[in-house]
Amino acid sequence: DGSLAEVDPEVHAAVARELDRQHGTLEMIASENFAPLAVMAAQGSVLTNKYAEGYPGRRYYGGCEHVDVVETLAIERLKDLFGAEYANVQPHSGAQANAAVMAALLTPGDTILGLDLAHGGHLTHGMRLNFSGRLYDVAAYHVRADDHRVDLDEVARLAREHRPKLIIAGWSAYPRQLDFAAFRRIADEVGAYLMVDMAHFAGLVAAGLHPSPVPHAHVVTSTTHKTLGGPRGGVILAADRSLAKALNSAVFPGQQGGPLEHVIAAKAVAFKLAGTPEFRERCERTLAGARVLAERLLTEPGVGVVSGGTDVHLVLVDLRDHVLDGKQAEDRLHRVGVTVNRNAVPFDPRPPMVSSGVRIGTAALATRGFTVSDFREVADVVARALRPDVTEIELDALAYRVAALADRHPLYPELQS
Ligand code: PLP
Repeated sequence: DGSLAEVDPEVHAAVARELDRQHGTLEMIASENFAPLAVMAAQGSVLTNKYAEGYPGRRYYGGCEHVDVVETLAIERLKDLFGAEYANVQPHSGAQANAAVMAALLTPGDTILGLDLAHGGHLTHGMRLNFSGRLYDVAAYHVRADDHRVDLDEVARLAREHRPKLIIAGWSAYPRQLDFAAFRRIADEVGAYLMVDMAHFAGLVAAGLHPSPVPHAHVVTSTTHKTLGGPRGGVILAADRSLAKALNSAVFPGQQGGPLEHVIAAKAVAFKLAGTPEFRERCERTLAGARVLAERLLTEPGVGVVSGGTDVHLVLVDLRDHVLDGKQAEDRLHRVGVTVNRNAVPFDPRPPMVSSGVRIGTAALATRGFTVSDFREVADVVARALRPDVTEIELDALAYRVAALADRHPLYPELQS
């Protein structure tokens, strides 16, 4: 019948097992979410067949009348969602979006100033082995040792000292909100562009539950698959159109060839959904779940929480005073069915492959329908699983509680065979 099961039973079986895994475990990787069926339907559509180099109305290929409709919908919805005048929905990923912005605004050898990877920044914010660290001179700012908040005095000092052409505000592992207006003041003082990478918290911004960077930044980048809950991909936006030409041409033909119109269709659907009251309600549960988790973890001896809590969808567990390192904690949680990733904490004495922390996010479970009371149960399971003296029998009991939680909120019931 030409189905995946018939054509390629091996891939089909792995996909089916992955669905089982996603259903049967608690997905708490802070950068993950569950795309709605409508998003996956758009992504799995005939649009995957279409070449459409260029932009709506100005393509280098014939037959683009329908993908033009789709891409224009995505652009207009994204602009509406974030109050932007400019949007580009073509970047294949968040990393591609950041690469395109830097290509548009910088010349290799220029200086960028971003949050240190070890303090919660992203690879594309200047890590040594990444394009950003190889092409540009990098200065890195940090969080303070006492309260784990971004040290804006240091940002200002480094900006004056290094005169960066681009300052990057944004993070992959930071549990607090940034002061975008303060970043912009520093950027203006030294004549730098300000780029905000809202990949992690874009959904919270869309829901009106997190300050928007759009009025403050020269340009904003994001992924569409984290708190925004859409397909895997990237976008670029800006409050005005002053950089539109440079940004568009940096994406195509600068960085990419044909856009992924099937993914752009899925982005359009996700942007529509992100403007609904249901999405906002889901983001409220995301935030409430993260707070519950932080509060519960803080009651465990030896367990810290970076910055003492959270304002966003993730908690950064600090295990510097714990017998478990990040790797062991990740494995322990995996053992009971909770999926997280180990993560360096600021001033981490252990190497990154081991680390002294785990990053735990609540967006995916909130999408699955977890309530605040479910999150209390999740938090209790996580806290008990991390106890130094926990026994195998107790871990089995925790795994049982995880399975019960998972079964209470079936994932993609329409897809279960
Ligand atoms: N920017 C930030 C802040 C991120 O956390 C991530 C993903 O982890 C990215 C960019 C890169 O996104 P992608 O994995 O889609 O390239």
